[in-house]
Amino acid sequence: MKKLISVVVPAYNEEEVIELFHSRMSEVFEQLSNYNCEMIFVNDGSTDKTQFLMNQLANRDDRVSTVNLSRNFGKEAAMSAGLDVAKGDAVAIFDADLQDQPELLLAFVDKWEEGFDVAYAKRTHRDGESWLKKFTASIFYKLMLKISRVNIPQDTGDCRLMSRRVVDALISLREHHRFMKGLFAWVGFPSVAVEYRRDSRAAGVTKFNYWKLWNFALEGITSFTIAPLKIASYLGFIVALTAFLFGIFIILKTLFLGDVVRGYPTLMVTVLFIGGIQLFFIGVLGEYIGRVFGETKARPLYLIAEHKISRIASTANEVGDEK
Ligand code: UDP
Ligand code: MG
Repeated sequence: MKKLISVVVPAYNEEEVIELFHSRMSEVFEQLSNYNCEMIFVNDGSTDKTQFLMNQLANRDDRVSTVNLSRNFGKEAAMSAGLDVAKGDAVAIFDADLQDQPELLLAFVDKWEEGFDVAYAKRTHRDGESWLKKFTASIFYKLMLKISRVNIPQDTGDCRLMSRRVVDALISLREHHRFMKGLFAWVGFPSVAVEYRRDSRAAGVTKFNYWKLWNFALEGITSFTIAPLKIASYLGFIVALTAFLFGIFIILKTLFLGDVVRGYPTLMVTVLFIGGIQLFFIGVLGEYIGRVFGETKARPLYLIAEHKISRIASTANEVGDEK
């Protein structure tokens, strides 16, 4: 019996690239004729024709499964949805925009057959991305390496192939604040990097702006944002900074013009400074409490509006069930 390989593709407003992706990936599937292969497109609440195009592909290709989420849940949730429904003996994740070349799958499968549980793509170059994005990304990975106990490989995205046992391990982690790169690292298992040159987007625009990336980084370090608590931390920081500048001002003023009420300048500076620092750290505390709040609600990670399983996966599954 042929092994089944599932390729999960999260897609959010990707109407320009989805067919291109499908044809490039189909060519790769041709070369993997010893396996049953399927693509699982996860529509993450797109507002364009992505869903329509996905359904069209599913109608004409037995190897296409579709999952339609009820709204936009974000890439992490979309990937989780794909992993949850994937039946493959190995499951791969690829971006819809062709930045992770579909041809990488061949190298991944080779590594998997060699006995590695995880083969991940490590980029040596990134085309079409600004220096600021590359710079901030590199700082983030260095920071993560320093402050977290899980070892997240540098210059690695979500593009990877995982064996069944790794996927099962990931599925068992249901935390709401999902930082997938961290979770991938947390489960462990023998892993190997496959180096590649990251292409620029085939078409369309990135769905991640700097603010999203900043939040993504926060999620990685602690987890999500609770806006009002965050305002407290920023406010605290600003007050502390202002107090510092104000302090310098008062000190200089006192030195040159003398002070009217004795002790007033130091008192003022101290009160403001301590107040600022306190607010700042209440904000930091709040970040954590907010995450606890998020987890206790135990809401589902995503909601599926519609799920169509590919013919190839359902038949492979039936045969699997019989034995
Ligand atoms: N994506 C998603 N949900 C989102 C944002 C992005 O499923 O809310 C998908 C998107 O369609 C793409 C992948 O995640 O397949 C990576 O997104 P993008 O290319 O915009 O990110 P970048 O490559 O710029 O980091
Ligand atoms: Mg991209």
